[in-house]
Formats: sequence, structure tokens, C-alpha cells
Amino acid sequence: MEEITVNLHNHSDISDGTGNYYEIAQAGLNAKIDVLIITDHNVVVRGKDSYYYREGNKLLLLIGEEINDPIGVPGNHLIILNSSREYASAASDPQTVIDSVNKEGGITILAHPFENAKKQLHMKSFPWSDWSAHDFSGLEIYNFMSQFKCGVTNFFSLPGHYLRPINFQMGADENTLAKWDELLSMGYRVSGFAGSDSHRFQKKVGPKTFKIFDYELTCRALNNHVYIPKPLVGDVEEDKKVIYAALRNGCFFVGADMITSTAGFSFRADTETGIYYSGARIPIGNSATLKIRIPEKSICRLISNGKVYKQWESVQSVPITITEPGYYRVECYLPYKNKLRGWIYSNPIYFFKG
Ligand SMILES: [Zn+2]
Ligand SMILES: [Zn+2]
Repeated sequence: MEEITVNLHNHSDISDGTGNYYEIAQAGLNAKIDVLIITDHNVVVRGKDSYYYREGNKLLLLIGEEINDPIGVPGNHLIILNSSREYASAASDPQTVIDSVNKEGGITILAHPFENAKKQLHMKSFPWSDWSAHDFSGLEIYNFMSQFKCGVTNFFSLPGHYLRPINFQMGADENTLAKWDELLSMGYRVSGFAGSDSHRFQKKVGPKTFKIFDYELTCRALNNHVYIPKPLVGDVEEDKKVIYAALRNGCFFVGADMITSTAGFSFRADTETGIYYSGARIPIGNSATLKIRIPEKSICRLISNGKVYKQWESVQSVPITITEPGYYRVECYLPYKNKLRGWIYSNPIYFFKG
């Protein structure tokens, strides 16, 4: 399997971001990621999926959408990928949208579902409230800008967060992780996604303009590491199909690359019938061995059915034999600036009684 880096959830100047597609693609090339997905608010742009090249590197820019109902309850932001239709006008009815996108083979992700920005700074929160919704592809378990908004406690802490945003990223949102485990325990197949929610907001204070934050910074900070069967070939349509299939199937992990690169992490199951990766749904048979490779020593947890199944530290590779059906996913934590940070979140491997 090939591992590629996909940065998701970026806003351009077509909605409320400040960079155009070319500038955002250059930021992605600087950060040396493979794929950057733009999801502007309530607008879908056709025919702009494209490769950008520079100095032997290539970046695939893909265009999705983030919809919400502008006159209804604030929140319920839904990211839609790999769809050929415009759904903004139907945003007040998320379930109809989710069902329709599923029929197309597209992807739906509940964006920043438990966002809770600090009120003191008058930053707005846009959580998900329609929990009657089901059959969506995933939850945005880690949103870079939400971590920023939720971490700034008061006006005086703002400069520190602005100057050193990485220092204040603690990991995936705890409430979202709990909801994810709840849904997985109920038998839903739901993937965990990372989103930058990058806008490059610009604030003018006197003669100085502050950028919150450069697209390049968020491209380096937090990514989806996606497994594909063979390297990208450089053909937009062909590569798009492979990337969206892997994202839809949950064949990826979330990596907080800002701490140190998460590339090289691997989580797989060896069974009598073959080798399987995140997102696979497989019969348990007599037994299965989970093999986890971690790029650096860290505190790791194997989570199953809402509980920590096993925890270990300072080991790079661990085989774990399992015999019980259920979902299994991995979380890794690393100390950074004297605090433990969420570093890697795998998507689950699902076992059922064969
Ligand atoms: Zn949003
Ligand atoms: Zn957004």
C-alpha cells in the first residue's frame, strides 16, 4: 500500500477564505502534501479539480463543499466530497442530503460537531445538533481552527495562540471521540477525519495585517494519511477515484504532523483470509493478529467497543491477538512542550462473527 497525505477542509476566496486556488495549491506544494481539498461554504465549483506542479513535486487540488442552512439553527455544517450535485439549497434537511450523496457514492462528514469556542472573545461556534442524522461517512474528529477557537481562553492569551498556534493544539476533540465510539459501538461504520478549516483570515490592526493562519501552516499541521493500492499516476480523474474510494472506506489515519511527522504509521490485521487495513470489515474466523507500527515511541491505546483494550508505551511494533468481534482502532499520544498531545488516530478495522 502507498501512503499519501490529504489535507481536507480549506476555504478559498470563493467563500470566506482569502486565498485563491493557485495560492492555496502553492501552500500545499510548499508543505509537500499530495492532495488538498477545498470545501467552500454553500458553493460547489465544477471543473477545477487539477494537478499543480513545481520542482518535481505535484499536488492534486480537489473541490468539495461545506453546506449549512444560513437561516436555520447555526451549525450542522456538512462536508460533501465526490458529488456531482449541488446540495446547499437542501442543507436544512441533512438526512435527505446524506442519503442522496450515499446513492452517488459520495462522502459526507459532520464538520466540527462539538465546536465550543470561548464566549469571551465573541468567536462563534457551529456545532452539529441534528443527531437524528445517520449513515454519514464520518465525523471530523480533529479540526485545527476549532482547537484554536476553543483553546483561546481570554483576550490576553490571544497573542500567544496567534504566535505559536501549534503549542495550543492538544489533539482530537474529546466529545467527538466519545460520540465516535458511541456510534461505532452501535454498529455504525463511521470514519474519523482531520480538517484544517483553514481560511487565512486577515485582521488589520494599525499598519499591520495578521493572518490567521497561513494555508501552509495548516497543511503542515494536521492531515489525513490515506492508503491507496498504487502510487498516484498524475491523471486527475483516475487519481480522484482512488483517493475518494479510500476516504469513503476509512482506509486512512489522522496525523497531527505538526508535532513530528506521522508518516509510516501502520495498523493492519493478519487473518486466515489475508491482510486487511483500516476501514476493512472482515469475519473474525479463529483469530486475527493486529499489527501496529508506530513511527516514534509514544503512548498508544487500542480502543475496542468504547474501552481501552490494551495500552502500551515506548514500543515501536506490537502484535495483538484478538478473538472477539467488534471494532478496533488505535490512538497514539506524544509529549510536546511538556504536555501530552493526541498525535495519531487510526480508523477502525471492523470484525464480525463469520
Ligand atoms: Zn464549518
Ligand atoms: Zn469550514
